[in-house]
Amino acid sequence: MFNYLEQAWNIDPRLCQLGREVARQIQPTAEELRQLAAINQCRILRAFQEERVGESDFYPSTGYGYNDQGRDKLERIWAKIFGAEAALVRHQIVSGTHSIALCLQGILRPGDEFIAANGPPYDTLASVIGHKQVNPGSLKEFGISYKEVPPLPDNGEPDFEGIRKAINVKTRLVLIQRSRGYSWNPSLSLYQIQQIINVVKQTKQDIVCLVDNCYGEFTDTKEPNAVGADLVAGSLIKNPGGGLAPCGGYIAGKQLLIDLVASRLTAPGIGSEVGASLNLKTHLYQGLFLAPHVVGETLIGAVFTAKLLANIGFSVSPRANEKRHDIIQAIKFNNVAQLLAFCQGIQKASPVDSMINLEPAPMPGYEHKIVMACGSFVQGASIELSADAPIREPYIAYLQGGLTNTHVKVAIMIALQHMLDRGKLQLEKKYFFNEK
Ligand SMILES: *Cc1c(COP(=O)(O)O)cnc(C)c1O
Repeated sequence: MFNYLEQAWNIDPRLCQLGREVARQIQPTAEELRQLAAINQCRILRAFQEERVGESDFYPSTGYGYNDQGRDKLERIWAKIFGAEAALVRHQIVSGTHSIALCLQGILRPGDEFIAANGPPYDTLASVIGHKQVNPGSLKEFGISYKEVPPLPDNGEPDFEGIRKAINVKTRLVLIQRSRGYSWNPSLSLYQIQQIINVVKQTKQDIVCLVDNCYGEFTDTKEPNAVGADLVAGSLIKNPGGGLAPCGGYIAGKQLLIDLVASRLTAPGIGSEVGASLNLKTHLYQGLFLAPHVVGETLIGAVFTAKLLANIGFSVSPRANEKRHDIIQAIKFNNVAQLLAFCQGIQKASPVDSMINLEPAPMPGYEHKIVMACGSFVQGASIELSADAPIREPYIAYLQGGLTNTHVKVAIMIALQHMLDRGKLQLEKKYFFNEK
């Protein structure tokens, strides 16, 4: 493959040699990730069989969508795979932010307080919460207060004592984000999530533990419900849609809580019984079926990226040999020009919109200008290879997704070549193996 890269994209032979060597070195880790994907693949196949998925489950429903058995069955399968009592899996949920907002709005009532357990939640939730600026429709407007417990400054790990202290009589919900999001802090392992939940429940038993599971699905053989989370939410155009879901979100958790959230998604008294699935069920079923494999490919691509970029002198997180709990690979560049050249290179390497010249732009829900390389089949789908970077110091690109590990490898090579062409990268002798 690397020989082909030299010819097709004029990649510097030294870069190709580096890529070839790194691909070889990560083989043992890639094999472990294939094993992970295999276990999750079996779990999903088993659930499909136990629920007796048949062709008629894919037939579209229209109008109110009453008695849509395929929709209800997919939700039972989802609940089973996640270790939850019930689930909502709907294309009417427009994004991950919407999934999480529905949980907050469905559970919290005026006078309640909720806590973000490990630093600020994902950027787009700031407007939902409304603690930073006045924002029509925010939780703040409904009299719901909010607190944040930052991670420990020395190691970025959860501050269990701080969480315990933040809880008071008003606390109704604790939000735990599994993924690192746009931050250099590490993602949370299921064990750490379990520890947070234990601290919360020991302090006040009836607090709802909600996990933002975006980017975390199928990076382990369990999901947060299985370690005690009451509600777990995410996006279908990330991991669990397997690259095939064209839109949507999911929420899995305790039946009573899912009913509250469903009342908010549609209307009280209607709940989850309505919602036409149109022609989308095949994509959701098949996407879920493929998701473990796609996540495995993505993770192999991320390990390759971490190893290669670390080899040429960049700080990366996680490092190639660290255990991963989400699909994000953070890379620290030295300046804006370098960051931009890298992201432009990723865009150039996309199967769709490769001809677009990428520039930073403001995005709804985000505070800083963002550069977003995403040449995907499904608009903005970050289970497909994408690189985002808020234009702020330190200059970190967050790379995620990739439907095949080959595409990730090729894209990294093209991005590095683009940096070379723009004079934003020098290949030093010490980077090369076999050279003394
Ligand atoms: C992507 C993401 C979200 C928001 O999802 P959108 O689909 O972009 O609205 C929330 N939290 C985390 C950790 C995410 O990665």
